[in-house]
Amino acid sequence: MLVDYHTHSQLCKHADGGLEEYIIHAAKMQLKEIGCSDHSPMPNEFDLPHRMDLQQFHTSYKPEVLALREKYKNTVAVKFAVEGDFFPGTEQWVKDFNSHEEFDYVIGSVHYLGEWGFDNPVFVHKYEERNIDEVYNQYYDHIKRSAAAKLFDIIGHCDLVKKFGHRPSKDMEEILREVFKVVKSADIAVEINTSGLRKPAKEVYPSEQILKILHEYRIPLTLGSDAHTPTDVGRDFDIAQQLVEKYGGGKISLFTKRQRTETRVS
Ligand code: ZN
Ligand code: FE
Ligand code: FE
Ligand code: ZN
Repeated sequence: MLVDYHTHSQLCKHADGGLEEYIIHAAKMQLKEIGCSDHSPMPNEFDLPHRMDLQQFHTSYKPEVLALREKYKNTVAVKFAVEGDFFPGTEQWVKDFNSHEEFDYVIGSVHYLGEWGFDNPVFVHKYEERNIDEVYNQYYDHIKRSAAAKLFDIIGHCDLVKKFGHRPSKDMEEILREVFKVVKSADIAVEINTSGLRKPAKEVYPSEQILKILHEYRIPLTLGSDAHTPTDVGRDFDIAQQLVEKYGGGKISLFTKRQRTETRVS
């Protein structure tokens, strides 16, 4: 069975369509589960232009997801989740927030290196001012710390730093092994996120180099489209499914109330 565990909605101000449109598309794609995982509120107005605030979470997002879960329960299982951010200094806030809500799972993503929203097309010119190898090192250091912080169930788009096609000059194998050893010992899943295919990187997150390591370490996989428009739900899942067969023993993880189980993709 196929599920899409990474979707957004217009509440984050950079996606189209309401939650229900995503769910309807998931049903049309005959997915068994769809996870609503819009960008989580964060403290201190962190990145507020690209996410809901706390009040919207409580008055809009949470009640809507829970109502839709009930409404569609005989059609497609709706999961209540968020995509959280790893940003040094916010760990305790995120931990408290996540533990006060009955999420099915929490995706942990790195979208910021210091003040730089490195995956935001508005700031793509900053790559020209940076040493790409250092950007990669800093990025993977954050991924490693995001896993060690034990705030999240799933590492989101774990090589997002390649989004705009910038590539390191040296082989990253050793650093990647260190990073995913930490992910493994923290018992966190990693998503296969098909949105990279729709970006200049033109490949799934993570790369096959990383997928080989995940396979070797027996790290569980999840599936996500990172849809920011309803028709992207389940997009390119034929490709993702092949990768799950090749690197995940044909199995993906499912989450309910932050408990992980496993199912076959076909
Ligand atoms: Zn987004
Ligand atoms: Fe993200
Ligand atoms: Fe996302
Ligand atoms: Zn994402």
